[in-house]
Amino acid sequence: MAATRRKKSSTRRTAKPALRPYRLAPDVRPHDVDVHVTVDPQNEAAFHGEVVHRLRVAKRRRSLELHADDLVVSAPVVEAAGRRLRGRLERHPERETIEVVLAEPLPPGEATLRLSFRGTLRSDLRGLYAASSGAHRYAFTQLEAPDARRFFPCFDEPAMKARFRLSVTTSTRNTVLSNNPVEKIEPLGRGRKTVHFRRTPPLSTYLLALAVGELVASEPVHCGETELRIWHVPGKEHLTRFGLEAGRETLGRLEAYFDLPYPYDKLDLVAVPDFEAGAMENAGAVFFRETLLLIDPETATLQEKKRAAEVICHELAHMWYGDLVTMAWWDDLWLNEAFATWMAFHVVDAWKPEWKMWNDFQHHRAAALGLDALAETHPIYVKVRTPNEATQNFDLITYEKGASVVRMIERFLGAETFREGVRRYIRAHREGNAVAADLWNALAEASGQDVEPVVRAWIEQAGFPLLRLRRTERDGRSWLRFEQTRFLSNPKSHANGALWPVPWVGRVAAGESTRTVRQLLTRRRGEIELPVRGPRFVYGNAEEGGFYRPLHDESELAALAGALDALLPVERMGLVGHQWAAARAGHAGLASFLELALSFAKERDADVLLSLRSPLELCARSAGRSLGGEAEAALRARVARAFGDAFEASGWEPGPREGNDERLRRAALLGLVGELGESPAVLAEARVRCEAFLADRRSLEPNLADAVVALAARVGDAALFERYLAASREAATPQDQRRFLLGLGSFTDPELVERALALTLTEAVGTQDVALLLTRLLANRAASERAWTFVKRRWPKLRRRMPPMLVTRPIEALPALGTRAYRRDVAAFFRANPVPTAARTIKQTLEQFALNLAFDERAEPELAGWLGKP
Ligand SMILES: [Zn+2]
Repeated sequence: MAATRRKKSSTRRTAKPALRPYRLAPDVRPHDVDVHVTVDPQNEAAFHGEVVHRLRVAKRRRSLELHADDLVVSAPVVEAAGRRLRGRLERHPERETIEVVLAEPLPPGEATLRLSFRGTLRSDLRGLYAASSGAHRYAFTQLEAPDARRFFPCFDEPAMKARFRLSVTTSTRNTVLSNNPVEKIEPLGRGRKTVHFRRTPPLSTYLLALAVGELVASEPVHCGETELRIWHVPGKEHLTRFGLEAGRETLGRLEAYFDLPYPYDKLDLVAVPDFEAGAMENAGAVFFRETLLLIDPETATLQEKKRAAEVICHELAHMWYGDLVTMAWWDDLWLNEAFATWMAFHVVDAWKPEWKMWNDFQHHRAAALGLDALAETHPIYVKVRTPNEATQNFDLITYEKGASVVRMIERFLGAETFREGVRRYIRAHREGNAVAADLWNALAEASGQDVEPVVRAWIEQAGFPLLRLRRTERDGRSWLRFEQTRFLSNPKSHANGALWPVPWVGRVAAGESTRTVRQLLTRRRGEIELPVRGPRFVYGNAEEGGFYRPLHDESELAALAGALDALLPVERMGLVGHQWAAARAGHAGLASFLELALSFAKERDADVLLSLRSPLELCARSAGRSLGGEAEAALRARVARAFGDAFEASGWEPGPREGNDERLRRAALLGLVGELGESPAVLAEARVRCEAFLADRRSLEPNLADAVVALAARVGDAALFERYLAASREAATPQDQRRFLLGLGSFTDPELVERALALTLTEAVGTQDVALLLTRLLANRAASERAWTFVKRRWPKLRRRMPPMLVTRPIEALPALGTRAYRRDVAAFFRANPVPTAARTIKQTLEQFALNLAFDERAEPELAGWLGKP
């Protein structure tokens, strides 16, 4: 699954009390399952069906237990050895199962279990749920992690793979899509039909898919033997070209990487009009949010295209890694997601090197480093008892830290060795299940190295190391002393004795060029001999390939600041992130960070400029809280001045043959000077340009669109608010719809803030977007207090409109409230209104909130001193 970027994802439905084991008996396994469903979303909210499980029973049993939740199940029939056994149904809602208790024992061997079921199309984007687009109504499935049991009674564990034969009765005007191609369509008369799908290869229940409604397909494109199509609601035919190209290009590269053809019979990419996650890797029928699949290449920003390509590739990587070879249990979910995340950057980078995907990855890695520095973080590997616990782990640690660790291992072993290990792993376990150790074994075989000891510390220990680095000269040679401790954001916390084997790579200046030095650091402290005598500088995390923070001493830092051009852009991004983290954690001065940040005024790389945004915004808000509005305005003005010349030189209009780099740099500068610096002239110009943009979407360089829509809203009136609302309703592309809808969250006029808040409870905002708009409002400093009051007052209703994976987003934005009193208020509110599935997020948010407050106190004198200087 790809989460929606927060960057990425999160948690889940109310945990139920622990009673009896949650796992199904391992001695009853389905191997073939026929499911028939009758569903017609245009006319009925209910659905019903029958399921026949063909089972292999290893031991004599008195009952059969399987999953079913929020379904009415009836008419159990068990047959074995040519006989029909009588049985009655018992329900176990606490573990989301039903049990057929038999009047006589079931002998070992083959058995058949038939059940009837009925349910209602859900409204929470889970199980088999209702979605709409204009007047069209649809039913879609979303079954990961434990939601197949809300679609039909089933053995809903990833290791219970079976072949499924699905048939669906519905109105003739509906398209019906599932994992496999259609075998036949049976007309039933009176406008109805039954669609029979071909039997699937062995699949886990969470990978099944069903879409029913009026959907339109693109022409197919071919990738080798595979037919690839995009399906969407009517009227979006012109938005499929980019997604088809990204699908074909990345699929071919994935086949080459795994050295194994695409494993299913066809490939449908389905744009779903209301969808909780970013996308879901259903085998052969991948579902997406519309914004991540339907693209107008003329008006989309480069960021939108890159993100769509990355998510498409992430899901396609899952076809092998996740679908063909599936984790045996949810505790190894991280491996699925970490691998698919890493693979997507790897493959899209190979397809479009000019997109510099690893620079994007650096932003995600930075967010993971931030979260993983909290006391309330968790190890990548967490024991999982229930699937609901697994779903709590759909977060930055699982995806981004996981992908960083995969990348570190790949670099440590070498790309070809790593690929050979992955190929062995996939070949050995295809159509089956595997555990993490199977991958380490395959990598060990491929490399001849014992991989597990290096990997385990990174997977099983929470947090990551700080490497303090200091250069020394001795015996006519140069050495780098290192000392490792756990890095924690709280300067008062005491690091425990955790130790990581660090596959260290440093960049060392050698004359005018640089070279990299590698060493596996297995001890807490020691020395690395440098290959160059008295190098101009040493940078402690070359290409930011390691998941650790280097901390250079003052003299090295000065050397690096004087040689920024000799570092790669990702290293400059890394340097900014590491210095900021060090300043926040009290390991380094804030003033020197601010000087470093403003020294990037001539920076050419957009991603480096983007990496300055959030630290400087936090400094500005901190100055506002501790020193007052004037100090905040002074800091913002200083940023606007520092980057203003560069923005002016770049101008609003692109040059005649301008490439992506310059376009993205302009957008990043607009963010610094306009959104962060709040330059009045830039705000006024954005307002004017936004008018033109509303009238003609081609009037603006596409990469400026997000910033211009957000900036104009800050100074916008009720008329502009109405136009945004209309623009989002009538948008020609999903990206435009999203841009103007979320733009409603950037207004500052109190009445318009209230209007935007009220909209979150109406149909004007789809279920998939409620949490995102609310997050925007909570982060908007002119709106955050009103938004929090609204959240508290309307919580029960809002919660129903925020599916479990999204409800964490607005919670994470709450530290923007910024005062001790608000922190107490937030803590008290969630004590009285617990969200068990977001329990970890709430703790992390309160910790982050406390860290911000402590930072305000510590930063005050340094900020005052720095602002006092010219
Ligand atoms: Zn995924």
